[in-house]
Amino acid sequence: MLNGYLTLFSSTKIDKSNTPLSNFCKLPALQMIESTKDPNNEIITPQKIDEDIQIEQSLRPSHFDDFVGQSETIENLKIYIEAATQRGESLDHVLLFGPPGLGKTTLANIIAREMNVNIKLSSGPVLDRPGDLAGILTNLADKDVFFIDEIHRLSSVVEEYLYSAMEDYTIDIMLDKGPSARSVQLNLNPFTLVGATTRLGNLTSPMRDRFGVILRLDFYSDDELLKIITRSADILDIKMDEDGALEIARRSRGTPRIANRILRRARDFAQVKTGGVISKSSAKEALDRLGIDENGLDDMDRRILSSLVKNFNGGPVGLDSLGVAISEDARTIEEVYEPFLIKEGYIKRTSRGRQAMEKTYTYLNLDAPNSAGQVDIF
Ligand code: ADP
Repeated sequence: MLNGYLTLFSSTKIDKSNTPLSNFCKLPALQMIESTKDPNNEIITPQKIDEDIQIEQSLRPSHFDDFVGQSETIENLKIYIEAATQRGESLDHVLLFGPPGLGKTTLANIIAREMNVNIKLSSGPVLDRPGDLAGILTNLADKDVFFIDEIHRLSSVVEEYLYSAMEDYTIDIMLDKGPSARSVQLNLNPFTLVGATTRLGNLTSPMRDRFGVILRLDFYSDDELLKIITRSADILDIKMDEDGALEIARRSRGTPRIANRILRRARDFAQVKTGGVISKSSAKEALDRLGIDENGLDDMDRRILSSLVKNFNGGPVGLDSLGVAISEDARTIEEVYEPFLIKEGYIKRTSRGRQAMEKTYTYLNLDAPNSAGQVDIF
């Protein structure tokens, strides 16, 4: 569609403001930040599920002041934003990385608000054609933010297409096909690409190099999650005491998305069982019934740890083999479960695969071999 339309233009340099292209593109790639549905384990998965989509809008902090934790990252971002604003320039491209549910999309929205510009949201798997990307890019106003979630999943064609857009705010578009094909260059408004990824290592280095700011989001402490839950409870008009909130915070895998989700489930239990106020006992009951134990681990975590020790002698074992043993996708283990298990010291990544640490044996009530956790981290 785009190519056909552009054949109307004959000059080799097209200023996008003179073209009706921006009106023409329907932006099919914009509606759709993917939600990942995991019917087996929806409470604990930090990835977005359908239930989250609406509620997250109301809970999403829209200012830095409401954004809890990640203080170093926030301080840096504030400085970069202030400096860019003082210079009257767009903010440098920003890459946010870290496990799902820690606030990458939220931060992208806050950046746009602080810069006083609009934000367009899309994601790597959805942007599968250069034409979709061109449609979005040519519609960005001066200094707008373009957010690409799961940027490591962009196709190589689209990724390469993005390079010149990021570097000098131009894109090349092929006109016609066959012998009469020629390319024209479109100028774009300066914009900020905010990319989010759960897997920094999967990003190609040319892509990574084009980001001026690379920020990592870490898991949240119990105190930080407590603040997040308290704020969410206020917004949703949920009553709870501090012990109840702390119980939820402790078992939320350091992840705001999970904390907010457990909060909503705990409210149901409290409503039916304890007169509507989430107390420690009603929170505990809700969490127990959801299969989330004292350590914040759920059934899939337990299967991973148990298989690592019982089927593979504590490892090291490759993720694919582990995945086959517990009938779970290796990528899901790597992105969803493993980061928390590593952070909590249950397993570690080694050059030869994943290995159980002493804590896993203690957790499973087993004696740890002397070698537990002895392989070098790569
Ligand atoms: P990601 O993009 O990293 O998967 P999101 O930005 O979508 O995560 O965050 C998921 C939800 O968690 C948000 O809707 C918001 O309610 C909550 N959240 C995330 N980070 C924070 C934070 N630092 N402070 C308060 N709430 C947060």
